[in-house]
Amino acid sequence: AGVARIAVVTGGSKGIGLEACKQLAGGGAITVVLTARNETRGTAAVEQIKRLGHADVIFHQLDITDASSIARLADFLKTRFGKLDILVNNAATDGIEHVIDPVYGLTPEEKKTFNGMDAGQRINWMWTSCRQTYETAKQGLQTNYYGTKRVTEALLPLLRSSSDGRIVNVSSNFGLLSFFRNEELKQELNDVDSLTGERLDELLAMFLKDFEAGGAEARGWPAEFSAYKVAKAAMNAYSRILAKRHPELRVNCAHPGYVKTDITRNSGILTPEEGARNITSVALLPEGGPTGKYFSEGEEASF
Ligand code: NDP
Repeated sequence: AGVARIAVVTGGSKGIGLEACKQLAGGGAITVVLTARNETRGTAAVEQIKRLGHADVIFHQLDITDASSIARLADFLKTRFGKLDILVNNAATDGIEHVIDPVYGLTPEEKKTFNGMDAGQRINWMWTSCRQTYETAKQGLQTNYYGTKRVTEALLPLLRSSSDGRIVNVSSNFGLLSFFRNEELKQELNDVDSLTGERLDELLAMFLKDFEAGGAEARGWPAEFSAYKVAKAAMNAYSRILAKRHPELRVNCAHPGYVKTDITRNSGILTPEEGARNITSVALLPEGGPTGKYFSEGEEASF
């Protein structure tokens, strides 16, 4: 018994975020604050969840790249609840520009061929349909790493006011260290005892500089979707640093699987509901569970 737990989900108006809100609100004893940068789409998502019979969901605007929007959410939570129990950092962008929409534009015949492809073939196909520019790469880092970090830092005092504060950073297998071909970089990102937030900033600045000069591959940064991969790897590292600094919290990263949502142009294998389950299961682990860990499709795995 007691007061309901409070959960915040970022990017909650569609895809995995929306399903995660449904699952958290449907479990009972959790009040879900569904956030989205677009007010109209966010309130429509809340109405959709309420129609399922889950009354404990409310909307609050949040653009994770907007400092004042983040501050307004923090103020709202502080005034209304005085604490936060679960933060699901789900919002992200792909860091690329789509030249064509690979799946949405397919004829039924082409769709058949597409459905016969395995995950690797589908990802390759996605890559050939898009373009990564300096601007999209920069935007990818700004949203996926800096935005997530800023939201986390603003809500940290409220999470620390919970008796069992949890953060789930929605990561990706694309953020795994195995994509880094530069051993020094890989080691530095993995050595979370020495790594600092300042050093992460320097590394990301180095990535952008290399990218702009056309030398990202030569330095051994990840190939293909590189900004997305680098941003998720940085978020993973930051997540581990945070877990060490705050043993009173559970801070974990979770890969949802390859999911049919807008970010994959609907090319995934899992449904958004299945993907979200791989996130909410980590958010709802029993008290005193793991922290500073990585979960891939629900199972603990290495970074
Ligand atoms: P979607 O594109 O469906 O959802 C992304 C969500 O992020 C949208 O709600 C979008 O809002 C929101 N968002 C983007 N930028 C911002 C911002 N600046 N402020 C607030 N919200 C923002 O993709 P998914 O549901 O698949 O993605 C959810 C998470 O899962 C992401 O972190 C993604 O990296 C991760 N992931 C997904 C995989 C997959 O296969 N789908 C695989 C691995 C990881 P808006 O509608 O306003 O754009």
